[in-house]
Amino acid sequence: MNGETLLGVVVPCYNEEAVLPETFKELTEVLDRLINEGKINRNSFILFVDDGSADKTWAMIDHRAEVDPLVKGLKLSRNFGHQSALIAGMESVSTCTDCLISIDADLQDDVHAISEFVDKFHEGCDIVYGVRKRRDQDTFFKKNTALAFYKLMAKMGVNLVPNHADFRLLSRRAVLELMNYREENIFLRGIIPLLGFKSAKVYYDRQKRYAGESKYPLKKMIAFAVDGITSFSIAPIKLVMSLGFFLVLVGCGIAVYAFLVWLLDHTISGWTSLILSIWLIGGMQLIAIGVIGEYIGKIFKETKKRPRFTIEEDTREVNFAEKEIY
Ligand code: UDP
Ligand code: MG
Repeated sequence: MNGETLLGVVVPCYNEEAVLPETFKELTEVLDRLINEGKINRNSFILFVDDGSADKTWAMIDHRAEVDPLVKGLKLSRNFGHQSALIAGMESVSTCTDCLISIDADLQDDVHAISEFVDKFHEGCDIVYGVRKRRDQDTFFKKNTALAFYKLMAKMGVNLVPNHADFRLLSRRAVLELMNYREENIFLRGIIPLLGFKSAKVYYDRQKRYAGESKYPLKKMIAFAVDGITSFSIAPIKLVMSLGFFLVLVGCGIAVYAFLVWLLDHTISGWTSLILSIWLIGGMQLIAIGVIGEYIGKIFKETKKRPRFTIEEDTREVNFAEKEIY
């Protein structure tokens, strides 16, 4: 069983020229070792997915694929984003592998955990989550925003594995099942736990980015969080509705107060309270429309059913040893 396992490692890369030589080296070393130990099949490979990089990333992948049989490359026609690059890689090799591991190109995820992932797969797990033990290497800001994000998601009823990013193993049947989730705007961390199947966690130390810069600046991180929440939960709409009810109650209270004051024949000094309520309530209405708009926007995008990615080049020979589907 062990030596039969055909493993594919999928690595999304966006402007990673600074780190790629080291990534090639470390990943091929790990795969070579696993092949020699008889843990995985000789045809196992690493698939680098170039997500529309503007630097030499693709040239480097293409060249490496020519000289190294373990390395394959896939070039997307433009930048589709991390999640789509992952999907592109997984979808294109899903039927010719027994299991797939996704890992970032920047070596922040510990490549040595891969061996343990494969062990868990052999023990019968369909999903193995890589979970960060410590986040010492992340900046104070990133650590805390990530923590706040998990807490917020949990509050909204979204089941995420804390401290797990996109470093994971999926069996072929889990990948094929994942491909049935057709949303264009996919948030893998939220979807994978929905698949079910037997899963396990492998703990590892998160490293500092080996070279280059994070592709997730604050703006992208916020967009990612908003996307994650609005893709999985309608809690924001409910919250806005409760706020609406609350405001109506406050309005009723003010009406009673105004009536009493009128009875007692006092004049209400008007301007400040009036202008405040107009701005406050106006602002809240706009927020409410914005929240609803966010969901309508999502529906609008999804109804078009556009492809999630477009492949421009593929270094693989077409003939992978086709394996039977379970
Ligand atoms: N990435 C990608 N497309 C993008 C942004 C990022 O394929 O549009 C890749 C990137 O090359 C890396 C992984 O996704 O391999 C994670 O990105 P990064 O390390 O910048 O994120 P961070 O670790 O800072 O959250
Ligand atoms: Mg990173």
